Amino acid sequence: MLTIMQEKIIADHILEKMSLENVFKILQDNLFPMLTDEEVEYSNQLQEFCMDLEPKIDRSKAVYELFPELGKHGYMQRINKWNDFTPYGMKKDILLGLQLSCLDCQLELGRLSSGILCANPTFHYFHEGGESSDIQKIQDDLMSGKKVGSIGITEPENGSDSVNMKTRCTKVDDGVVYNGEKVFTTNGAKADYFVVYGVYDTSNPRGSMVQSMIKREWGVETRRLKINSVPRIHIAHTILNNVKVPKEFILADDGKGYNRLFEGLVPERLGLIGSALGVSWTGLIYAIIYTNLRHQFGQPILNFQGVGFTLADLLSRLTAATSLALQAATIYDEKVLFAEKRSPAAEKWVAGVSSQAKYLCSRLSHDILYEVQQQMGGISVTDNTLVDDLCDASKIEEVVGGARNIQLFIIQNALRRYKNML
Ligand SMILES: Cc1cc2nc3c(=O)[nH]c(=O)nc-3n(C[C@H](O)[C@H](O)[C@H](O)COP(=O)(O)OP(=O)(O)OC[C@H]3O[C@@H](n4cnc5c(N)ncnc54)[C@H](O)[C@@H]3O)c2cc1C
Repeated sequence: MLTIMQEKIIADHILEKMSLENVFKILQDNLFPMLTDEEVEYSNQLQEFCMDLEPKIDRSKAVYELFPELGKHGYMQRINKWNDFTPYGMKKDILLGLQLSCLDCQLELGRLSSGILCANPTFHYFHEGGESSDIQKIQDDLMSGKKVGSIGITEPENGSDSVNMKTRCTKVDDGVVYNGEKVFTTNGAKADYFVVYGVYDTSNPRGSMVQSMIKREWGVETRRLKINSVPRIHIAHTILNNVKVPKEFILADDGKGYNRLFEGLVPERLGLIGSALGVSWTGLIYAIIYTNLRHQFGQPILNFQGVGFTLADLLSRLTAATSLALQAATIYDEKVLFAEKRSPAAEKWVAGVSSQAKYLCSRLSHDILYEVQQQMGGISVTDNTLVDDLCDASKIEEVVGGARNIQLFIIQNALRRYKNML
């Protein structure tokens, strides 16, 4: 079993079956038929890695000391090519997030913030012709898991309305000076590096946004927020008081930061979908195992239609959501990420669908974990299984990376544009 219990009440014969190995067996049955041979091989290796790592995880400790283990195998992210780690692409990263969540859903959220949200801007920087060896070193530090990264977009007064940020940048001869505050900076209280957005002119954020890579040692102050649902991740209130950034660390200047912010949102949302699916699959599979083995009134509780039909409904919805996410990632890989000539229509479609799928999958993870707890009964709210941890993580999925209404707002805007077609 994956957790150290304060007091064990779960029956031994059930507990021994609630293993990561069995979670993966049932996941394989549901997921692998949707994958190519290459993706199955990649997933098999990843699952073996997870089973090897599992005994080393101390769930009373923060997730960060596990990052180097991920880094050694190229698992801090798999969207972009780094060193010789193959295969890679958006679909590989969704599979990574999904299966790492089965191992440890908090490790997965920490990894996503460091490996995707903070490291992706370095890949964008090089794709756009950047050449700094300092940025290359930071990319290597983040991808190897030796250092921790975070991203600062959200501010105390600007959450969903993130573009109208108040963090001010001021040009100086050899760089830029940041003044402002960010909140909800995932990994922030532990981070070595911060990708931070600011603007030269608060009345023209789109035209003046700057994206920089900032080292903690330049004066970034962080104060940890208490967020009960993910206690092993350090999420911070981040204060930038006259933090000077040398010009080599500016990733996108003079309004280009706005383009990077939006380019970054699609892989961010798709990555979050992988995590949400992983939380959902793990919770549902634990329920499938438990309800098959737990007897009441002389039979397995799964045989009662109240339990069995509910799990059948959840499985149907989760299979549909998973197939949507994999399809969106496939289109992104084929027509955007690896395309010789990017398809603007596909880019637009994936941007819209990433909001639709983020909206559906994050909500679904909450619905599934809530229902799973109702169907499993009391044991699921104890520390005898990991279900309550997964339920806690599912609470934040809808807020992180843009709250539910903002995804719907983006989808609604697309609907309004159809008027121009009429
Ligand atoms: C655990 C956690 C980790 C996070 N990690 C990061 C991180 O690493 N970096 C980072 O920059 N941010 C991070 N965030 C911030 C997250 O992206 C924001 O919380 C989110 O964008 C919403 O902003 P807000 O919380 O200020 O809510 P608000 O923007 O104040 O929204 C409150 C409510 O109003 C609704 N609302 C707002 N505007 C509209 C509208 N136009 N139409 C309809 N409804 C609307 C929202 O949907 C929401 O329900 C994290 C948040 C959490 C909880």
